[in-house]
Amino acid sequence: MAQAVLTIDLSALRSNWRSLNNMTGCETAAVVKADGYGCDSGRVASALLQEGARTLFVAQTEEGIALRKAVGPDPAIYVFSGHMEGDTALIRDLNLCPMINSIDQMVRHVENLPGHAFGIQLDTGMNRLGMEDAEWTALRDIAISQNPVLLMSHLACADDPDHDMNPYQLANFRNMTDGINAPRSLSATGGILLGADYHFDMTRPGIGLYGGMPFWDALPVIRIDVPVIQIRDVLPGESVGYGNTWIADYPTRVATIAAGYADGILRGMGPHASLWAGDVQCPVLGRISMDMIAVDVTACSEQPDYLELTGPHQSVDTLADWAGTIGYEILTSLGARYARRYIAP
Ligand SMILES: *Cc1c(COP(=O)(O)O)cnc(C)c1O
Repeated sequence: MAQAVLTIDLSALRSNWRSLNNMTGCETAAVVKADGYGCDSGRVASALLQEGARTLFVAQTEEGIALRKAVGPDPAIYVFSGHMEGDTALIRDLNLCPMINSIDQMVRHVENLPGHAFGIQLDTGMNRLGMEDAEWTALRDIAISQNPVLLMSHLACADDPDHDMNPYQLANFRNMTDGINAPRSLSATGGILLGADYHFDMTRPGIGLYGGMPFWDALPVIRIDVPVIQIRDVLPGESVGYGNTWIADYPTRVATIAAGYADGILRGMGPHASLWAGDVQCPVLGRISMDMIAVDVTACSEQPDYLELTGPHQSVDTLADWAGTIGYEILTSLGARYARRYIAP
């Protein structure tokens, strides 16, 4: 079998939710957009509901289809993109709760689904999604009279605890929502770590659940093991891979492993990347191909069958650093070609 194995540890995921929940005195929801950060939204959500989560967030209404099927009728599913044109039937039939982002969306929602639950998303400075101050001031009294289930906003710089943007957005959020009798939510993973001022009535962690930064204490949730297809000995002066970018200057034992950039192992990682055979670190040689990577296994005393790409020796954030990106992008880029194994609690 030349298929890399992606192991997703749902018990570590549950433990991460529990740790984040223990940092606050409020409700901890779970963000499962982008198919649960690539880990399968249905399985992730089911595990977290067992752990005590009650509210799930997705980015788009269509993501609610598979999720509702997996979790059944009861858990709340909130949609960040709100009530878009064409969404009405799904919002109604799947009982989704749109986060309304504009006056246009508010009008669409109350005209099409009067009495159907909704929340409000406010823009406190990120300039991405949600109503700005002027729009909110105009709509506020009408919106509040319809009993929104949540008033929320999102922090732009919460992964940097010292950033001035955090208190600035906190003050804006307070100005826009103080005195309103509705639950409030400001923080994702980064905001939880900023402390109690940022917690309000609900937090919305995503990346921390899946073992990513900025949640330093997270347990790793994913592990990737890639099978070795072939091993050869390369002499000094010979090259390996596309473009001859790596040329041996010592007798090298080269393993060709069965995964590549089509599996989210980004081509740009190449020069910095390494894998592990047990406790032996094995550097990547030359360019990462679509389906294969050459790895230096000269230091291994035995020929390895599999090499660890991420797991106990290196996290998704290590991989992200090699490619100049973030753990979020690594997780959501993994693709469909892995043999997926789930460690259930
Ligand atoms: C993605 C997202 C989250 C979760 O963020 P993490 O940094 O992954 O914890 C929360 N709220 C909003 C609005 C989001 O877009």
